[in-house]
Amino acid sequence: MANLSKTLALTLTNGETISYQLERRPRRTVGLKITKDGLVVHAPKRIFEFQLQKLLVEKSNWIINKLEARKKNYAPPLNWQDGEILQLRGNPITLYVVHNAKNKQAQFNHDSLTISSPEADNQEVVKRKVVQWFKKQALVDFSRRLEILAAKLNVPTPPLHLSNAQSRWGSCSSRGDIRLNWRLLQAPPHIINYVICHELAHLKEMNHSAKFWAVVASIYPDYKTAEKELKTRSPQLHTV
Ligand SMILES: [Zn+2]
Repeated sequence: MANLSKTLALTLTNGETISYQLERRPRRTVGLKITKDGLVVHAPKRIFEFQLQKLLVEKSNWIINKLEARKKNYAPPLNWQDGEILQLRGNPITLYVVHNAKNKQAQFNHDSLTISSPEADNQEVVKRKVVQWFKKQALVDFSRRLEILAAKLNVPTPPLHLSNAQSRWGSCSSRGDIRLNWRLLQAPPHIINYVICHELAHLKEMNHSAKFWAVVASIYPDYKTAEKELKTRSPQLHTV
């Protein structure tokens, strides 16, 4: 089958020239989407390229806005090597990677985390050790907060599990177990507290009704700001 995808250039109304991916599809309308690689256009097989270009230029504002928004949310992936900056409870900590014949446990010291390994050049190995350390700390940190905040809400402390979800920060099962994403340990304390309060409130209201938000507000009054901040920080928190 012929390759139905190609890269083309487009000059937008603001004078900027971008490249986009054109994919021919058996469809009747033109569809635009912004992916992490930029603009992707799905077009019917029959439409001429000059017609398509005209249509895209007309959609310039939409494209410019979406590309801007994507740029703002873009966080470069971490390098799992010496000198990288990690986040712990909203504070930067430096990652030190040391060659050592012995495989030692990660060492945390105030504002640095040291990984010693015979495979110090292997970023996968370093990442695994850092993640292991974060998970261990997360469990201790989140358990303590959960206990305090559950008392505030006047409910028994629910069982806690760590999650590794790619997009969710927390969840509460119908059995009343709470799952929290270990990556949340990178966020500042008030954000960690918010996510915990949110999940705890689900023990009383298993939905996102006005009643639910009233429960959240009873233990975390400024939840709206926190919710917004969590959304803004999410791309960054997910680079680990
Ligand atoms: Zn919820």
